[in-house]
Amino acid sequence: MSSDAGGWDGRVRRARHLAAKNDSAAALLEFYAVVLTCQGDLARSIRAGLPARPTGSLEDDLSIVCRAAPAFVGAVVARAPETLAAEGRRLLDASERLLGDALLRWWGAPSDREFFPKAILQPYARSLADAGVTPADRTLPRTNNRCPFCGGSPQLAILDPVTASAVETGGRRLLCATCLGTWPFRRVLCARCGEEDEHKLAYFRSPAFDHLRVDACDTCRHYLKTVDLTRLGVAVPLVDEVAGAPLDVWAREHGYEKIELNLLGL
Ligand SMILES: [Zn+2]
Ligand SMILES: [Zn+2]
Repeated sequence: MSSDAGGWDGRVRRARHLAAKNDSAAALLEFYAVVLTCQGDLARSIRAGLPARPTGSLEDDLSIVCRAAPAFVGAVVARAPETLAAEGRRLLDASERLLGDALLRWWGAPSDREFFPKAILQPYARSLADAGVTPADRTLPRTNNRCPFCGGSPQLAILDPVTASAVETGGRRLLCATCLGTWPFRRVLCARCGEEDEHKLAYFRSPAFDHLRVDACDTCRHYLKTVDLTRLGVAVPLVDEVAGAPLDVWAREHGYEKIELNLLGL
């Protein structure tokens, strides 16, 4: 697993930088910068509460996460669009036990349509990864298209400059939607259905986003976006993927479904 290079602060800086360029996704990126800032604060609270050697079981750590979560939810609610804010207010009104149940449910059966559990458990999973402790009670399949650390779905793909160590995969990695770690993944291979016939795999680029690409599969009709670090080394994949929102609109219009919606639901 790769380390969390740059961490939350690096993601916040990148989101603010891209928002200031005031392109079509500026409002989205401004909100994402708020969310990432709050996730950074949440990560610090969780880390401070975790024992020096966590067990890796969310159930064991649940009270720590549930005590840290309301400050996060409240801060997001203050800046969120109304539908999301209403969802957050419901969580704030719920008992700690109900919040804990929602988190445990999501941990075992993640959905990319539930903002708050995903947003709260990303920093938790990241904290486990940073501590080198494998999640103990996340019994998701560890197929090669899922995160070998936590079983999460791929949020996006990354192309790195090909170094000797990455020759086999052509420098391609997938980034986990839960723990945000990455793992190597063969270059010509659908990250959802495993299609490897290059005639069934299509790549689309737009001049507006030189370092982004839509990788689509005509067998399962799913796609994910690739952030090409050989074209833009300063990109922060998680954030640049969100900035490429117009490509999601384009892909959807062409009949492709995203493997995993990003945190902002795109
Ligand atoms: Zn993961
Ligand atoms: Zn496929």
